[in-house]
Amino acid sequence: MVRLITQNLLSCPSKVCAYPTNFPLSFRNVERLEMVEAEFNPGFVRGFLRKLEWDALRKSAGELGNTDLPEQAPDYTKPDEVSEELLRTIHHVLLEIVVQDGQMVCPQCEHVFQIKDSIPNMLLAEHEIRK
Ligand SMILES: [Zn+2]
Repeated sequence: MVRLITQNLLSCPSKVCAYPTNFPLSFRNVERLEMVEAEFNPGFVRGFLRKLEWDALRKSAGELGNTDLPEQAPDYTKPDEVSEELLRTIHHVLLEIVVQDGQMVCPQCEHVFQIKDSIPNMLLAEHEIRK
């Protein structure tokens, strides 16, 4: 399932690409988005803050029409001080926006990864695979 919680950890697997310029994959031609309710677990969101690439998350959320995340990343070293309102916003962005049909595009090599029925096709041709 293509949600921002997974897309935020995804970079292009091509051997011609390397972090950080192969990240984040941009959403393009998103034809079908679905909002799926997920149970809010503040402890989970707090624990996940340290794993987030905040600027990438804001950019990707914006590509999906969500501009609710503040510019300033929450301080993951003080997770207990992050407001419940912000945790709920992050929860929604990470878990409840599902890309059903569209594309993810590598910002470096511009390879297009198709998403169909929320399954991303991350396969590359043999000569493109990083070994
Ligand atoms: Zn690439």
